[in-house]
Amino acid sequence: MFRAILKSVLAGKSPSLDLLLEGADAHGHHSQSAVYPAPTSNARTPFESGLPREQISMMNLNAAQKRQVARRMVPLMWNMRLGVALYDRPVRPTQQEATPEFLAGLEALARELGAKDFGYVQVPRDAVFRDKSIPYDMALVFTVKMDQEAINTAPSLDCQLEVMDGYGRMAFIARKLALHLRAAGFAAYPGTALGGVSDYPQLAELAGLGAIGYHGLLITPGEGARVRLNTVYTNISNLPVSQQNEHLWVRDFCDRCRKCVRSCPAEAIFQQPQARGNGGQQCIDHGKCRDYFTQNFGCAVCVKVCPFSQAGYDKVKAGFRGHPDAPQYRISPGAEFPGTGLEVHHEQ
Ligand code: SF4
Ligand code: SF4
Repeated sequence: MFRAILKSVLAGKSPSLDLLLEGADAHGHHSQSAVYPAPTSNARTPFESGLPREQISMMNLNAAQKRQVARRMVPLMWNMRLGVALYDRPVRPTQQEATPEFLAGLEALARELGAKDFGYVQVPRDAVFRDKSIPYDMALVFTVKMDQEAINTAPSLDCQLEVMDGYGRMAFIARKLALHLRAAGFAAYPGTALGGVSDYPQLAELAGLGAIGYHGLLITPGEGARVRLNTVYTNISNLPVSQQNEHLWVRDFCDRCRKCVRSCPAEAIFQQPQARGNGGQQCIDHGKCRDYFTQNFGCAVCVKVCPFSQAGYDKVKAGFRGHPDAPQYRISPGAEFPGTGLEVHHEQ
């Protein structure tokens, strides 16, 4: 399957990314300890738009651009393929509890491999996408940062290449961390860098790594929205999961700002997150975003214009006087709680 998509890209044909990801997800269904979605869980947003090939920016590259893409696609697909293969090699864990020293070593390894921020979460069932499953409900979540110069060119191929590079690094780091955990006697399964079977921004917010902004992306200290996210599922039962999140004021700021709403070329970001039938909130119109995204190298204008990505988290925080009347959107850490997450889009 991975070979087929790579061949398609190199030949300039339209590969089915959704089909590829569905194939990858299927490997996880063998797990004995699998955790399944809540009835309120959302479906994963498909990548494919149904637009004709002539309108898909990544399908209309010249030879030099194709080589640039291939340089990112090969390591990404290779690491994703090896990561998915770990689901076909389930481990019988000999350990269930990790010492603080072991976890400190794990975090140090993650940073050495290129992760920026790192946290732990017990995955609520409503964060597992509909019709998917995760191997365990405990998870590590980490970010990798994206280069500001490249993001500032969005929408562009340079920006898209930086995004692809981020995906490749995430696939590599998640696989290495899973192997490290397995070598120590724990069960561990890397999240799929592209796609994934759970809502990574929701997990990252629950892990205290940042807060989801009105553009539906995680905003973090340091890089703002210029991050990508991935996870590793594990059987470690005593992970120090976050009990609080100091970044939720970010959404109060969003209610005053709305720069992403004004800047979105597809007018896909709602003025204010909208209530979903299941109690959740939705930030963007996926169909509008996806069509523009597909025609314009993955867009990322909302990442670029966000003040947290430009001025930086500390500067925004220092200048913010608060907004007590801002609507409060909160994500519940309760595994059985009927989804109150902000729905997010495929940019992360
Ligand atoms: S651009 Fe403004 S409203 Fe949009 S996510 Fe960033 S801070 Fe929030
Ligand atoms: S990525 Fe989507 S939501 Fe963000 S600015 Fe582009 S079209 Fe709008």
